[in-house]
Amino acid sequence: MTSIAYDYRQDAPGRSAIRDELLLIDGARVPAISGRTFKSLNPATEEVIATIAEGGAADVDRAVAAARRAFEGPWRTMRAAERGYILLKWAGLLKQHADEIVELESLDAGKPIAAVLRQDFPAAIDTLTYYAGWADKIGGDVVSTRDDALTYTVREPVGVVAAIVPWNFPLMIGMWKLAPALACGCTIVMKPAELTPLSALRIGELALEAGLPRGVLNIVPGPGRIAGEALVNHPDVDKVTFTGSPGVGRGIMRGAAGNFKRVSLELGGKSANVIFDDANLDAAAKAAAAGIFFNAGQVCSAGSRVLVQESVYDEVVERLAARASALRIGDPQDRATALGPVISEKQMKTILDYVDIGKREGALLVTGGEHVGGRGYFISPAVFANVKHEMRISQEEIFGPVVSVIKFKDEADALRIANGTAYSLAAGVWSSDIGRVQRFAKRARAGTVWINTYGYTDVRLPWGGERDSGLGREHGTAAIDNFTEPKAVWMNLNV
Ligand code: NAD
Repeated sequence: MTSIAYDYRQDAPGRSAIRDELLLIDGARVPAISGRTFKSLNPATEEVIATIAEGGAADVDRAVAAARRAFEGPWRTMRAAERGYILLKWAGLLKQHADEIVELESLDAGKPIAAVLRQDFPAAIDTLTYYAGWADKIGGDVVSTRDDALTYTVREPVGVVAAIVPWNFPLMIGMWKLAPALACGCTIVMKPAELTPLSALRIGELALEAGLPRGVLNIVPGPGRIAGEALVNHPDVDKVTFTGSPGVGRGIMRGAAGNFKRVSLELGGKSANVIFDDANLDAAAKAAAAGIFFNAGQVCSAGSRVLVQESVYDEVVERLAARASALRIGDPQDRATALGPVISEKQMKTILDYVDIGKREGALLVTGGEHVGGRGYFISPAVFANVKHEMRISQEEIFGPVVSVIKFKDEADALRIANGTAYSLAAGVWSSDIGRVQRFAKRARAGTVWINTYGYTDVRLPWGGERDSGLGREHGTAAIDNFTEPKAVWMNLNV
């Protein structure tokens, strides 16, 4: 891995450390029609690392038209296996360029490089490889109806997909959308988050190199309120797949109603990690700390509420605080760094405001919760004890390295608190009583339940939640359903 001074296209003479990035539309890198640009910062240094063409409604129009042509043309009609081979070739190219992609993601999103190497990058490759394998295995059923008919179903691609992606896992969450949509034969206009557009643009270039026909994957960075809304409202987009905040998700449902676009939404979370007194406390505290402090808490399924049975409450608070203060904060490019900055100054202020709110609400800040370092948006990991279920820091998604530790009496109490927010993305439970963990798993209102572990995801398992956590599921066969429409065919055998 090279140092922080990074130039991913070293064969482009005269390229400076600050890159100029263009949109990717119809197989070419192009400026925005308006000529406007915006800047991307490294959250660890606050330095500008790239100037990016700012996509607007006219660029979205061009990109959707290109995606429509590619859908009606080469991509849909290509042999399914061929689509799979191209995706596999793309995965191979991404692996060949692993160092630069990992570094780019770390610079743009402020992620510790060790974490991108361990999680984001391998997960993106795994997702792409998994769905490459699906490309020629999407089928239908012959269904028994009448003796004089052959009746069967086929699954057809939904068409042009708008993929709108957040900044916390740009590469991995981006691939959760791109890989299944492409495997199903859809074409895409992707709008990365304006804070983290760089990895998407680079992998888009590599997709072309892998043989993806022009227009199949278009990438239009730009502001959510402009480029994002233009996509959501576009009459020629057939589906929106979105990961982001519940507020934007609501707007997307409204916008999509115009032409009844298919919509899948992965939104926020306030997940409970529940520790009973008969749990392995060492393992539970370790996982609880990782469950909230990984990616500086900017994880939709972060275990931001740790619920602890009263007899072991003080011990768990102590262990969590010790783990929080031992975390190595620093330069994300240093492989020993465990905790990088949060994404932006705005996000840092929001998180620090929540720390003040917690103190004002009467919770006890045991450790952390401060802006650290002169430059960069670093926050020391915060542990709040004596948190009451009704407090705002227990109900609202903070999306930062702040954990609320809440006391409970018994199973019923734990379940009431765990299920008592607007969210339902994930939950964890720790106990050595097999009946107890299974009762919890059954009654937890959550799309994923972890038992005696926390935080694992795998593209083979469904992922998502209900209420303010979203609509529908990604991953596994759910994603194949998301990007295809079933068609019934009825053939009269007596003509
Ligand atoms: P955000 O909703 O502000 O932005 C997400 C994306 O939507 C960005 O690309 C943004 O430009 C775009 N956008 C913003 N306004 C838009 C609009 N009016 N129309 C169309 N697009 C618009 O969210 P964020 O701050 O980037 O990400 C943080 C949120 O995402 C958190 O709430 C987090 O829980 C959630 N999240 C959920 C999951 C999951 O799998 N459930 C994963 C990661 C993040």
